Amino acid sequence: MSVEKVKRSFSLAQQRLEGTKDSYGKLIREIVNTGICTHCGACVATCDVLEWVDGKPKLVGKCTGCGVCYNQCPRTLTLESALIGDYITSYSARATNPDIKGQDGGVVTALIEFLLDKGFIDSAIVTMKDPKENWKPLPSIVHTKEELLKSSGSIYCHSQTLIALISAIKNGDSSIAFVGTPCNIDAVYKMTTSPTGLLNLFMRANIIRLGLFCMDSFDYRSLKLFMANHGIDINNVEKMTIQKGKFTFIEKDGKISEFPVHDLDIAKSSSCNYCIDLTSEKSDISIGSVGSPDGWSSVLIRTGLGNEIFNEAVKNGYIEVNEKGPSMKAILFLAKLKKVSLYTLKKRRTFVIRYVGEEGITEKKLVETAPKKEVVLEDTIAKLKAVKMSKPKLIDNDKIISITLTNVSGRSMEDVIVNISHVSEFFETASYNDKISVWYPFEELEFQIPRIENDQEYLVRVIDKESRVMTNKIDIQKLIPQQK
Ligand SMILES: Cc1cc2nc3c(=O)[nH]c(=O)nc-3n(C[C@H](O)[C@H](O)[C@H](O)COP(=O)(O)OP(=O)(O)OC[C@H]3O[C@@H](n4cnc5c(N)ncnc54)[C@H](O)[C@@H]3O)c2cc1C
Ligand code: SF4
Ligand code: SF4
Ligand code: SF4
Repeated sequence: MSVEKVKRSFSLAQQRLEGTKDSYGKLIREIVNTGICTHCGACVATCDVLEWVDGKPKLVGKCTGCGVCYNQCPRTLTLESALIGDYITSYSARATNPDIKGQDGGVVTALIEFLLDKGFIDSAIVTMKDPKENWKPLPSIVHTKEELLKSSGSIYCHSQTLIALISAIKNGDSSIAFVGTPCNIDAVYKMTTSPTGLLNLFMRANIIRLGLFCMDSFDYRSLKLFMANHGIDINNVEKMTIQKGKFTFIEKDGKISEFPVHDLDIAKSSSCNYCIDLTSEKSDISIGSVGSPDGWSSVLIRTGLGNEIFNEAVKNGYIEVNEKGPSMKAILFLAKLKKVSLYTLKKRRTFVIRYVGEEGITEKKLVETAPKKEVVLEDTIAKLKAVKMSKPKLIDNDKIISITLTNVSGRSMEDVIVNISHVSEFFETASYNDKISVWYPFEELEFQIPRIENDQEYLVRVIDKESRVMTNKIDIQKLIPQQK
């Protein structure tokens, strides 16, 4: 009877997790291999195909990739509070003042407008575009509505907002709205609460923390170089957005240039690789774009002060609330993507990477190239369908082919060689090899292959210890029109 109960609970958990893509592979890579496993045994206790062997959970049967083990583990990030911190309530909202040209719903600017109009604050700390160098962030103190209206919109680079905050206090302002990314908010929080924090000692001020959501920000010079390399004139750019994995530059003449955010990894600020706070967990009110329709902002109210300010701004007609709240699922998904950097690893392993220096784009191999191996071409193993290949994509101005391979065999595969070669009239004209020592079930691996000139067809071969597992073709001619 008790065994039956366990089975019923297991299958209910499986149903609830359907489509989450959590798996045993993720448990091993994120928790066990990184050394943060507490050896509690919850994963092994959960599933019949896991055993505790040599101080870790080991797969001894066929894994279905259901992810129940992952969700029992005390070290995985699957609970809402672990992902976005505590909050009282959430809204989708926008400014009512048509003069506010916000990044999303203009909620940040509308909140400050309300606070300034009512005399509740002396000033606000915002970030403007530097008039001397376009799109360079300029941390600023604003006292009037006219100044404020120039400050809306996002600049995706670090801004030294704390310098502006302390200047405002030095100038005698004592009630201040502060806008910042989660790292900026953390600085204010620490300075206000820690025993050695200046704002906790004699230099007190009432600071309302308006925290932005933030996935990453970029080094100003590298971003400028990226734009120049892609024919985008920084002085002509009207707006930049980061949404749904795409970095978009919108120019004054309406030209739109869009890139996977991943393409800008080279320009990303290094600190952002170690950052785990998406939603400004230490703020009074957090505001972001993800989770709300275009033209609306997602708002998380975290403190009593934040609640009062937001409600009063709504009551006084500065902010309009959408009847439909934000998609918490979308916010939590993005928050999790960020929190996994806690494990100092990427969700996917990418095997060929590019980096940009002053000299332009250069190819760099991440792992040692495995020696080439004679392969017996048999189709029998291919029928096992052990590896699934995603639809190939062209990225970085069509210079790179990106594919994702997933181990769908249900078993860990060892010493796997992935060979990607360009084939022209039966001859191999370029070849890339990578060796994967362990490939866990349902783990996705991303490969980026630089295209060669006048390419036609690439052959992707995955070979395990004994023989070939899978072959697949990439026909470039078919890919280009599809993508356009
Ligand atoms: C670096 C960065 C990364 C972001 N990443 C994400 C993300 O991944 N997902 C997501 O949902 N939202 C992200 N956002 C937040 C989003 O872009 C909007 O700022 C947010 O939705 C508020 O929009 P709004 O229209 O209500 O604000 P607005 O009324 O347009 O006001 C925006 C406020 O942000 C200030 N600001 C602009 N740039 C900076 C900066 N670099 N540092 C500090 N303050 C600044 C402005 O001065 C202004 O006060 C990011 C913002 C930044 C600055
Ligand atoms: S993901 Fe695999 S190992 Fe984990 S509970 Fe499901 S079947 Fe078991
Ligand atoms: S449940 Fe997590 S912490 Fe516990 S033994 Fe398994 S992997 Fe380690
Ligand atoms: S990702 Fe983190 S460190 Fe980088 S700007 Fe955003 S909050 Fe700051």
